[in-house]
Amino acid sequence: MSGSVTVTGMVLSSMPVGDYDKRLVLLTKERGKLTVFAKGARRPNSSLLAAATPFVFGSFQLYEGRNSYHMQQAGVRSYFTDLPKAQPEIYYGFYFLELADYYGQENADESGMLNLLYLSLKALMNPSIDNRLIRRVFELRTLVVQGEYPQVGACVSCGNLERLTAFSWKKHGMLCPLCAPLAQDAQKLDAPAVYALQYIVSVPLKKLYSFTIKPKVQSQLDLVVGGLMQQTLERKIKSQEILDRMTGDTVRLIPIRNPTRI
Ligand SMILES: [Zn+2]
Repeated sequence: MSGSVTVTGMVLSSMPVGDYDKRLVLLTKERGKLTVFAKGARRPNSSLLAAATPFVFGSFQLYEGRNSYHMQQAGVRSYFTDLPKAQPEIYYGFYFLELADYYGQENADESGMLNLLYLSLKALMNPSIDNRLIRRVFELRTLVVQGEYPQVGACVSCGNLERLTAFSWKKHGMLCPLCAPLAQDAQKLDAPAVYALQYIVSVPLKKLYSFTIKPKVQSQLDLVVGGLMQQTLERKIKSQEILDRMTGDTVRLIPIRNPTRI
């Protein structure tokens, strides 16, 4: 197959190639994650100069060659121009892009991940939403999009729907007071933290960033979601290490290997 195709998506990363070109990774609605060459994109007068940059969201006209995609034109809808100037928000932003890259697959439907990414970057630019909350919401909701999220609506051991009081990474979900003592790694949670986890997993995307939490609830969310990410990611995410170093967000956890899925 060869010819032109127009896709909607976001530039996740950009690498210089040769003297004037760039190799981009795009997350697109129509074709999933794509590697795209942008010829001449580093020339000052190139029409692709502004578009071939991380965080750019828009429509891209690509030429589909035998083995690779080449960018022909770009219609930028949003640059998130203020994000690269914002600290520490930019570190969160790069981490979100790398996480989307980690999970992205060619020819998969990535519209869910693309929408989540777009809304989360917008949330980062909103000073009234705490960055730490945005991070945990983005991480947990990413696990939802990828189908790897824990059971938070009922006790993972007995199915009890009420009085969920603890979380177990090994059992991958919430526990009731009867089942919690039987799990080695049960972490007690306050009711608002349980509610926050349920809210993030189930609420429609457009309402995702419409709540705030108290510092104690944030600490419990950090613990649960930080642990889930440690458990789930199979390799280190470089931008996550940088983010943790810059913000001191690291959660100290006992490493959990080979979780039991129920
Ligand atoms: Zn139970």
